[in-house]
Amino acid sequence: MRDADRALAALLLALDRCEHGRHKGDRCTGSESCNGPSVGNKFLQPGQRLGTDMYGRSIVYPKDHRVLGVVDYWVPEAARSIARPV
Ligand SMILES: [Zn+2]
Repeated sequence: MRDADRALAALLLALDRCEHGRHKGDRCTGSESCNGPSVGNKFLQPGQRLGTDMYGRSIVYPKDHRVLGVVDYWVPEAARSIARPV
């Protein structure tokens, strides 16, 4: 993986972090807004549509933060056959 790809992947994986830098659900006692498990990114909600790909399919922020690193979850219409976590 190229350095640029690695940096982009790290950026995408950071999108679930709260304003204190903790991943959603991780321990965060940074303020009253978390004070326990991190509430995650309050500016980007799971399932929120971000745009449209070149085929007209919706690009969405995955509902499950555990799959942020799996590109198929960002374009669910393109990946209907993939197994979903329970
Ligand atoms: Zn926090």
